[in-house]
Amino acid sequence: AKQKGRGATVFYEPSMATVVAEHLQLEADLQRAIERHQLSLNYQPIVSLKTQQIVGFEALVRWSHPQRGFVSPIQLIKLAEKAGLIVSMGQLVLSQACQHLLQWKPQFPNLYVSVNLSEIQLRHPNLIAEVEQVLKSLQLPPFSLKLEITESNLMENINHATELLEQLKALKIRLLIDDFGTGYSSLSYLQQLPVDTLKIDRSFVQNIQVGNKDFEIAKTIINLAHSLGLEVVAEGIETGHQVEILAQLGCEFGQGYLFSPPLVDTEVMNFLNQYSVREQG
Ligand code: C2E
Ligand code: CA
Ligand code: CA
Ligand code: CA
Repeated sequence: AKQKGRGATVFYEPSMATVVAEHLQLEADLQRAIERHQLSLNYQPIVSLKTQQIVGFEALVRWSHPQRGFVSPIQLIKLAEKAGLIVSMGQLVLSQACQHLLQWKPQFPNLYVSVNLSEIQLRHPNLIAEVEQVLKSLQLPPFSLKLEITESNLMENINHATELLEQLKALKIRLLIDDFGTGYSSLSYLQQLPVDTLKIDRSFVQNIQVGNKDFEIAKTIINLAHSLGLEVVAEGIETGHQVEILAQLGCEFGQGYLFSPPLVDTEVMNFLNQYSVREQG
């Protein structure tokens, strides 16, 4: 460390050059991992709070770096966005998720996968064609795929977003607004966007108790959704008490450690077969 004026200490070690070099190395490693299809996906079940049936799985990306180990998905997305790799990573995620679903479909034909889209992916001119191509090449019906989009992604250019979502909607794919309530909520855009589902953020679910503020917020989101003809998924459910409250408020679906943590793909079939109530059909 070196002394600077007014006693402020500036740390030079590890040197800036080392930090930059490490970052570049990490970007290169990620690029190689994408090219070699070395990212994997975990799947977290989405459960009907009414029937307890599993209706779908959210695909969550995982990267285990050969030296550094597990990289948190939030960091990973940031890194991929900065490095200009998010589009190719997103393609990999989308096609892997659809290929896995294809394996589960013979026994569970009504299941869907829900795939997260980052802002940059949403803006990419090839997105629509790509989604169409993946479904077509695997002969998956459009109800098999749901896309999760966060509020902040949508708000930057609402007219452009509406146009894009309408093109996806024209493919009959279902669309979900993720982490609802945490971004710049403008209620007017809800009326404009062709979405099917709102996902209540975990931050409102975590401490929910009958009558507290989170309860009132969850209730308001659920009622708002229903009055617009939308369904609701609550994320981050960890207790039976949370399920009871949310079910009573009319929330249709839930997701969280109570039902299951995200599973590796090879665990999914087992989980489906062991889950107490089987999917009909
Ligand atoms: P998200 O979309 O809000 O995903 C839910 C996160 O909550 C996941 O974290 C999941 O593992 C975690 N979670 C699920 N149930 C519970 C619970 O009961 N309690 C608690 N405390 N946490 C729970 P994860 O997998 O670390 O992903 C973090 C975020 O990274 C995701 O948040 C999503 O925004 C982003 N992400 C993950 N995969 C992808 C991807 O393939 N593409 C894009 N663009 N973003 C992704
Ligand atoms: Ca999500
Ligand atoms: Ca979420
Ligand atoms: Ca969240």
